[in-house]
Amino acid sequence: MARIVVVGAGGAGLAAALEASRGGAEVLVLEAAAQVGGATARAGGVVYAADTHVQKARGIEDSVSALINYYMTVSRHELEPRLLRRSAEGTREVIGWLEELGITWQPERLYVAGLELEARGHMPTGDTRDLGPAGGAMIVAALLTAVEQQPTATIRTSARVASLLSDGGAALGVVLEDGEEIAADAVVLASGGFGAGQEMLREYWPEATRHGDWHWYLGPDTNVGDGARMGLALGGELRGHGGTLLETPNFGRLNDAFTPPWIVYVNQHGHRFVDETDTYCVMPHVIGKQPGGTCWAVFDEAALTLVGEQEFLDPYGLGVELESNWTVAMLRQQIENGTVLAADSLRALAELAGIDPAGLEATAEKWNVDVADGHDSAFEKKPDLLLPISTAPFYAVQLKPAIIGITFAGLRIDEYARVLDRAGRPIPGLLAGGEVAGGLDADVYAGGGASIGNALVFGRTAARTALAGISA
Ligand SMILES: Cc1cc2nc3c(=O)[nH]c(=O)nc-3n(C[C@H](O)[C@H](O)[C@H](O)COP(=O)(O)OP(=O)(O)OC[C@H]3O[C@@H](n4cnc5c(N)ncnc54)[C@H](O)[C@@H]3O)c2cc1C
Repeated sequence: MARIVVVGAGGAGLAAALEASRGGAEVLVLEAAAQVGGATARAGGVVYAADTHVQKARGIEDSVSALINYYMTVSRHELEPRLLRRSAEGTREVIGWLEELGITWQPERLYVAGLELEARGHMPTGDTRDLGPAGGAMIVAALLTAVEQQPTATIRTSARVASLLSDGGAALGVVLEDGEEIAADAVVLASGGFGAGQEMLREYWPEATRHGDWHWYLGPDTNVGDGARMGLALGGELRGHGGTLLETPNFGRLNDAFTPPWIVYVNQHGHRFVDETDTYCVMPHVIGKQPGGTCWAVFDEAALTLVGEQEFLDPYGLGVELESNWTVAMLRQQIENGTVLAADSLRALAELAGIDPAGLEATAEKWNVDVADGHDSAFEKKPDLLLPISTAPFYAVQLKPAIIGITFAGLRIDEYARVLDRAGRPIPGLLAGGEVAGGLDADVYAGGGASIGNALVFGRTAARTALAGISA
């Protein structure tokens, strides 16, 4: 019986383990953390897919080609087309595969998760088994339950893989942190991204270290880039760059992905530069291009009174537990402690913040006219709850794109999930899937759900390749 070792028990690792054990292999999953799930279990769980039966049930006409074309355009053709095709065809299959494992997809919950016109964001419903807050945990729970039913699959937690066993450039197994050596016919790297790995971030995504201690990672501490490092050591190379960042006022470690529509962002010139409610796929790029890579959120006293306790936590209904920075109680507390600056005039506020006063005054004048007209004439922000900036005291708080969600650089693989060396040849015995692999994202995130879909598709693909014995 072939022995396959899987490094990491997130979405990609569990998908690989299930596929490989169902295919007749003896599978050992090694997970560094004390609990399975990785970033996948913390995620919203949206899967970005085209031409699915769920879309059809909602009357949406879509196609795999349209999805590939969309990804290529958004990434300015920096992705690997053959990986994209595998991903686009595979995510369509994954929707049905997860259904067989107990996940349901309601057509009415499909939503526009990126910049596409037709809804492609598939939201799961299922049991989380208390592995995490939302849909990602439902997917992990479904996979875990199925893996646990496989007699030839074993999962070991608190087992961090430190390096690969190798000979003549081929992977022959793994070495754990405590020195234990485990031989394998094939090793599947499914160790996730490197959002918690300072060294990797500095080297492969310096923008995610630009704002110093404002940066923190939404995924687990164990995602430091071990798999990428191991693949590099065996002759692999990395593809892709950038990742997803969320802007934050840094009141605390709050995962607050959605800005309320009454907030106005200005740069150091005092100018607006974006629809503040635009998608997180593009927001870090837009803020990052402002002077100093930062901006200020500006509002007034009347907004605090009018908004009351309305929250804008989950406009897409993802069910992710978010804690907002923008509740009145939080803002009052931050005004009190001086993190949110306050002044009796816009000019004085601008001087306190280091914003150009004339620019801020002109922006507020224009904004107030737009609010009265019910139309954001500059950026076409949806007219729901636009509030003027006219009642003292005035408030401003600095925002930086600093919360790390997903890292894009990863090992170069082919469509069979084989890790390629610098010459483009497969490294014998070494496969990779999920965030540890690159070539499927570059710079701009295509849409919520692209990552889990890829993790499941390439986890499964890696297992099939290992079973077919073509990893060599
Ligand atoms: C809060 C949040 C929300 C998100 N929401 C979405 C969403 O809705 N849709 C979407 O598509 N994407 C989303 N993403 C991104 C997505 O969750 C990830 O990109 C994807 O799940 C990665 O899956 P993975 O299996 O590659 O890695 P992970 O799920 O992170 O699993 C990697 C596992 O490997 C383990 N590991 C690491 N190093 C070692 C080692 N040396 N030895 C053994 N084990 C190791 C880790 O502990 C971890 O358990 C979100 C991410 C976050 C953080």
